[in-house]
Amino acid sequence: MPCTMDVEIKRDIRKLSLAELEEFFLSVGDKKFRAKQVYDWLWNKKLKNFEEMTNISKATREMLARHFVINHIRVDQMQRSEDGTIKNAVMLYDGKIVESVLIPTSKRITACVSSQVGCSLDCNFCATARLKRMRNLYPDEIFDQVATIMEEADRFFDRPLTNIVFMGMGEPLLNYANLIESIQKITSPEGLGMSPKRITVSTVGVCKMIRKLADDEVKFNLAVSLHSAINETRSRLMPINDTNPLEELAEALKYWYAKTKRKVTYEYVVWKGINDDEAHALALAKFCQVIPSKVNLIQYNPIDDGEFQQADPEAIAMYLKVLEGFGIVAKIRKSRGQDIDAACGQLANKNDLIKS
Ligand code: SAH
Repeated sequence: MPCTMDVEIKRDIRKLSLAELEEFFLSVGDKKFRAKQVYDWLWNKKLKNFEEMTNISKATREMLARHFVINHIRVDQMQRSEDGTIKNAVMLYDGKIVESVLIPTSKRITACVSSQVGCSLDCNFCATARLKRMRNLYPDEIFDQVATIMEEADRFFDRPLTNIVFMGMGEPLLNYANLIESIQKITSPEGLGMSPKRITVSTVGVCKMIRKLADDEVKFNLAVSLHSAINETRSRLMPINDTNPLEELAEALKYWYAKTKRKVTYEYVVWKGINDDEAHALALAKFCQVIPSKVNLIQYNPIDDGEFQQADPEAIAMYLKVLEGFGIVAKIRKSRGQDIDAACGQLANKNDLIKS
């Protein structure tokens, strides 16, 4: 008879809810409150191994290590830009890599985090789109990116993390359940205790999921990557517009505003010869009237092939004038961390590990 062996595949303890952890402790004849202690070590104190759980007996710690692992992310490579921006290439438990960025300004420290490995959306100006979507990130993998940047903010700047933006790799609304669970952990007092008002989730405009956010009455902010308020142009830039055209996006945003009373931010890049004319600026101003909103004019970060080029300063000035004429608040967002490819859309550039 062939020799068989019982190999237990250890579960990742952070995939368990508090209730499941309580059930586990009861099942091994321990006290229910032990779960709360362990949960606190895992999520509030962010421990990466069982040995450091000092208020728990050695025997219990060893028992936990026999049953579970803690699949914490690992910073595989950290790069610092001359403007202070830090980019972490983060390795996940299965060897896949995502990137997250710390962006310091005089008033804020912002964490820009990824929600998926790769992306399925094919926006043709974005470097991440060159990768196929490989998988969704788990809530703890999103949480760890924020916790890591929190530590780096403290270590390198001696300042707290103030804001979180879901503007890294992937489409957060296509990883909905894990996104929401990660934000619950990030905002709860047992987790990182961040205010949801300081969190912004950015989407290409998945209408069905914008409506779901509204139904779920989320308390964080919403940004939509618009880039054009004319269907023909937007479809050329972002194929998602074929199935989620501007009229539907407008309806979804009305629904969002009716339920949440929160204004939306539009992210918008002005490209030479694509959307740098007055017709596009006027269309944007009109779209901004659908619900209360503001515009971030983002500087284009070249992704090597030269097909897209940042518009001339005159075109940006024209946009600002048109928007101002309609009473719309617009800001120019300068690119950060360009020398280390940490700027928007560059998160996959030159990283062979992700491409493999
Ligand atoms: N999928 C979500 C989250 C990614 S956010 C979304 O699209 O909103 C990344 C932001 O950077 C988006 O607004 C995206 O349109 C923008 N972006 C992508 N590539 C860029 C580039 N090369 N230069 C400037 N902005 C870019």
